[in-house]
Amino acid sequence: MPDFDHLIRDIPDFPKPGIVFKDISPLLGDAEGFAACVRTLGEAWRESRISHVAGIESRGFIFGAALATELGAGFVPLRKPGKLPADTIAVDYALEYGHDRLEAHADALPPGARVLLIDDVLATGGTLRAAAELIGQLGATLAGAAVVVELVFLGGRERWRESAPLTALLRYE
Ligand code: AMP
Repeated sequence: MPDFDHLIRDIPDFPKPGIVFKDISPLLGDAEGFAACVRTLGEAWRESRISHVAGIESRGFIFGAALATELGAGFVPLRKPGKLPADTIAVDYALEYGHDRLEAHADALPPGARVLLIDDVLATGGTLRAAAELIGQLGATLAGAAVVVELVFLGGRERWRESAPLTALLRYE
């Protein structure tokens, strides 16, 4: 597998003190690195008959749209509240402080859809879990989830209680 580690930058104390933010901007800006990243993400899911990739706002959109074309799948945005114009369904979830909500168009997925979720970073896992719930509410099959970076020490994988697999390109212990 290509080495992507040097293309992920640590920004200490962003967005608040004590958080080390994993900045994917160098990876996106590197033509070869970004292409190799999308190709490698795709390799794990090529045989999984993915009909739609669902990306989590907002950095999940970047990888998700590219991965959808790589897999020959459609793309579905899972958005923050109030952004989608047509009828929506929503899932509320807890954050470390406060709560948030993800929305999808109620008609985003046709019957029989097999969905791959994607986000840039798996931290505590609450966001990905809420996204999985949203896919279930849309009546689609969850084939699995992919993240570029997994922050293993935050235990997100333990909160992923789906039977579907979860793959990570880079894992930080
Ligand atoms: P969580 O729900 O805790 O797994 O948080 C995941 C979401 O927050 C993802 O959409 C990430 O983009 C973002 N996130 C959380 N922690 C970080 C971090 N240390 N660096 C970059 N993004 C993060």
